[in-house]
Amino acid sequence: MLQNTMSVKDFVKFGRKVVAVGRNYRAHAAELGNPVPTEPLLFLKPSSSFLEEGGSIVVPSRCTEVHYEVELGVVIGTGGKNIPESSALSHIGGYTLALDMTAREIQSEAKKKGHPWSVAKGYDTFCPVSSFIEKEKIVLEDCHLWLKVDGEMKQNGSTKNMIYSVPYLISYISAIFTLEPGDVIITGTPEGVGPVKPGQTLTAGIEGVLEMTFPVVSA
Ligand code: MG
Repeated sequence: MLQNTMSVKDFVKFGRKVVAVGRNYRAHAAELGNPVPTEPLLFLKPSSSFLEEGGSIVVPSRCTEVHYEVELGVVIGTGGKNIPESSALSHIGGYTLALDMTAREIQSEAKKKGHPWSVAKGYDTFCPVSSFIEKEKIVLEDCHLWLKVDGEMKQNGSTKNMIYSVPYLISYISAIFTLEPGDVIITGTPEGVGPVKPGQTLTAGIEGVLEMTFPVVSA
């Protein structure tokens, strides 16, 4: 069985879903003119959108405005259904730093029409991730995430400003989707999102833990 032989460190290869949380930081909801949600706002990104370091983020030809969103990714180690918030931390296998790349103009159009965000969020290369981060290296209550475009700081936030905590999200999500080893939850972005163009380079990091670099190219 896959489950018995895989390591969650190989989440890019074996992870079956990426559950994304929208508007989990007040300042980011406000910058896009969105209300703060009264319960977690969830969407899925296909695992085919994963991109590992060494690869390039590809801007599809039909996209005019692709945005970066730096997010802490939680890699599930032990799966479960209806996981209580009190034991949620024991289901975490480790972490990854993720970029929730978004075709903003496609998403804006979808929002107006009440359509899903799958296209805006789901293109190949739209989920660049760092290598696996050992669980002990992350202080969940105050983990500093940053992102630069061509060396210029654009996002610089802390998980302490999340609306819904990671244990709450694991509990909430697992009541809907069974969480499986290698699944990734990307937990929302702090403020400062913006467009990136082919030819530019994104660098992102978790303070004191790691940084990663991805060039952006056209299709
Ligand atoms: Mg996001």
